Amino acid sequence: MVLLGPPGVGKGTQGRRLAEQRGWALISTGEMLREAVAKATPLGREAGRQMAVGELVGDEVMIGLVRERTAERDARDGFVLDGFPRTVPQADALDVMLAEREQGLDLALYLSAPEAELLRRLSGRLECPVCKRAYNRADTRPRDGRHCDDHPEVELRARADDAEPTVRKRLEVYREQTAPLVDYYARDGRLREVKGVGSEEAVFAAIVRAMEGPKPAAPPRASRAGRK
Ligand code: AMP
Repeated sequence: MVLLGPPGVGKGTQGRRLAEQRGWALISTGEMLREAVAKATPLGREAGRQMAVGELVGDEVMIGLVRERTAERDARDGFVLDGFPRTVPQADALDVMLAEREQGLDLALYLSAPEAELLRRLSGRLECPVCKRAYNRADTRPRDGRHCDDHPEVELRARADDAEPTVRKRLEVYREQTAPLVDYYARDGRLREVKGVGSEEAVFAAIVRAMEGPKPAAPPRASRAGRK
C-alpha cells in the first residue's frame, strides 16, 4: 500500500506501526535517500542538493530505487510505501511495476492535516538516528527530553530539511506535485482518507478501520491506459 500525505502528517510513524503489525516491509524513500547522503554515495551526492532545498529528486532515479527495493526478499509478502509516489509519473511507474509482477496496489491511504498543524509538527520534530523513531519537542517528547527511549545512549536530532524555509518549500512542492495524486487514486476507488490529527493510537486505529473496509476493485489496465 501507499501512504500519501504532506510532510509532517505522520506517514513515517504510522507506516512503521502498520508494517510491524502486518509483517510488511516499510519502504521510506526519504530514509533511503538520507542514508545515501550520509554515506556520500553517488546517489547521495546527487540527491542531497535537491533535498537540502526541499525540491524533489528526479523521477527516473526514484523509480529505479523503488523498483530495486520492492524486489527485495523482505517485501515479498507486502510493503508500505512512505514518500513514494510523489508525482504522477512515479504513480504510473508504480502501477506498471506492480502489474509486471502480477501484484496490485491494495490501497492508497491519504493522511491529511491542516497546514498550521504540519508547520507546528515539523518545527518541533526530532528523530533517533539509529531507529528513526520520530519525536516532537511539543507533544511526543522522549522520556529524558534528549535521548531516544529505545536507545538511551543516542541523542535525538532534527532533520536538516525541517528548517523553516525548506519546510515551506516542501509544502509548496507537495501542493503542486504530490497533492494531485489524491485525485489520481480517488478516480478509480483506490483511495481512503484518514485524518492525521489526534493521538498516534487514535490515528492508527482509524487507519486500521479504513483498511478493513471493502477492498476497492482494481481497474482493468485497458481503462487506465489513456489516462493523463
Ligand atoms: P521525506 O522523508 O519523505 O520527507 O523525503 C525527504 C526528501 O527526500 C524530499 O523532500 C525529497 O527531496 C526527497 N524524496 C523522498 N522521496 C521522494 C520521491 N518519491 N520523489 C522525489 N523526491 C523524494
